[in-house]
Amino acid sequence: MVYHNTIIVGETDYISMNTMRKMQVLSDTAQYDLCDYVNHHKQSTPQLPGIYYSTRSNGCQVPLFKVLMSNKCCNDCKYCVNHSKRNFTRMELTPEELTRVFLNYYQRKLVDGLFLSSGISGDIESTMENVVEVARILRLEHGYQDYIHLKIIPGTSKDLIKRAMALADRVSVNIEAATPDGLSELTSTKDYQKDIMRRLKWIKDIHERNPKYAPSGQTTQMIVGATDETDEDILNRAKWLYNKLDVKRSYFSAFQPLEETPLENQSGPHPQRAGRLYQADALLNSYNFKLDELVFQEDGLLDVEQDPKITAAWEMDIFPLEINSASYRDLIRVPGIGTISARRIIAIRQKKPFHKMDDLKKLGVAVNRAETFIKLQGNYQTALDAY
Ligand code: SF4
Repeated sequence: MVYHNTIIVGETDYISMNTMRKMQVLSDTAQYDLCDYVNHHKQSTPQLPGIYYSTRSNGCQVPLFKVLMSNKCCNDCKYCVNHSKRNFTRMELTPEELTRVFLNYYQRKLVDGLFLSSGISGDIESTMENVVEVARILRLEHGYQDYIHLKIIPGTSKDLIKRAMALADRVSVNIEAATPDGLSELTSTKDYQKDIMRRLKWIKDIHERNPKYAPSGQTTQMIVGATDETDEDILNRAKWLYNKLDVKRSYFSAFQPLEETPLENQSGPHPQRAGRLYQADALLNSYNFKLDELVFQEDGLLDVEQDPKITAAWEMDIFPLEINSASYRDLIRVPGIGTISARRIIAIRQKKPFHKMDDLKKLGVAVNRAETFIKLQGNYQTALDAY
């Protein structure tokens, strides 16, 4: 409902048209930042910008308020619509404006949490101060207890990172590239080691000293397909981040050649590439695969036509695997057997060995994928009963 210069967004609250216009633009740009969710998609209600319905890895749909505080930026990231050399109307929300819109949505149960990021308006510290101020107002002035994810701007001071972490559930610094050379192809204004890696290390140290600071830890994001970096480079960096800097998750954002950016005429990656990276990353992160267990093509890329777990399985010499005696480590290497079904198999076979594929199917095993790789009581595939 619109009255002159205001829009009614709740029974008792009004948000100015000016603020909503800014929200429209700034929430559109925020879509390129991924966060704790996968497969996110934007809500279709045009009058209420900033709401993204996202699917968590457990399949749960969560509405999230996601917006950039400012699209002003002094950095020159070649893939980004906000890069400093582009000539367009810049705008920003004050912490008070942003808080007001967020609380309105939140009180009406339109969103469950906040994901906040910003272009660099002026200098890094004052921009990050604004981001932290939103969290401060929400937590300390309004008693807001739910989820806050703050994006840390590369180059932010340690003190300010600490303050952000004291207020946020989770923080993240986008590393954007797997290697220093990759980043320097994309921007001349960020230093990979100094502005980014050092900050990730600080976040790890601060969290270790005080686990209540950003209790859900840190995540990061890499752009896929904007440079020559291979899937092997990207996964190598992801594994290193998990092991050395306690990063909880890496997000892979498929490069999109956006209009009016220096890379607008470059083609994007294969549409399956980021999805295959997520599958391979899950093998490294949740299945404890070593990087050298994954199979890369000569060009360093994963085969986009096949699930990397199946590609890897064809190269392993542990198959066919006896289900009734295999270790947990080997069971989770079978395509079609996940961590939950592997645990169930081990618990059940202690009481009664498995004879039929059908019994595995009841436990959640994708038998059509697994059957080539397993034996039951010494019997392999064709010797087993149909399931
Ligand atoms: S820092 Fe780079 S990616 Fe972020 S808003 Fe500025 S130009 Fe875009």
